[in-house]
Amino acid sequence: MMKIGVLALQGAVREHVAAIQAGGAEAVVVKKAAQLEELDGLVLPGGESTAMRRLIDCADLLEPLRAFADAGKPVFGTCAGLVLLAKEIEGQEAAHLGVMDITVARNSFGRQVDSFEADLDIEGIDEPFPAVFIRAPHIVRAGADVEVLCEYQGRIVLAKSGPFLGCSFHPELTGDHRLMQLFLDMIENRELLPTEAHYSKI
Ligand code: GLN
Repeated sequence: MMKIGVLALQGAVREHVAAIQAGGAEAVVVKKAAQLEELDGLVLPGGESTAMRRLIDCADLLEPLRAFADAGKPVFGTCAGLVLLAKEIEGQEAAHLGVMDITVARNSFGRQVDSFEADLDIEGIDEPFPAVFIRAPHIVRAGADVEVLCEYQGRIVLAKSGPFLGCSFHPELTGDHRLMQLFLDMIENRELLPTEAHYSKI
């Protein structure tokens, strides 16, 4: 059975755990670096990216998380998790993990009171997907290898790049597990990475 972790320092963890389990995988609540070793994939949940970064630093998790991503392990960043993944954050000098070739703008859809739900047309998902936007970021620049899977109001809100999937919104709050399923399918079907392919030939 696939083991998928959810970084559990802050933010919406429980609903992601439920979505992972609904997809037939085992969910691991991740608080320590050593837990990363056993995982086939990791979810970085929504919450608040600067607060989450502070907690990541307190738990000495930044380098282990980067190493996990650099090794080509799949990571799904949702909302604040998308901000953590991005190579560049508009108006900020430094990125967090900085592994996905995108630039994000934070809080692009208004303030907390402006949180809203929208039905999205997502590439690879047949019927509209209900998404909850809470002080959501959006992707202002997508690198050449980034595949845009959804735009909303002319803004990129879901994209995939190699082993990384990132969305602006909270996909876990409505009980619709199709986007998590897309992530699980992505892990199951992923092509061998150059390094793995290389080693299998030796
Ligand atoms: N605005 C938050 C941030 O930039 C993200 C909000 C969320 O995850 N719901 O970190």
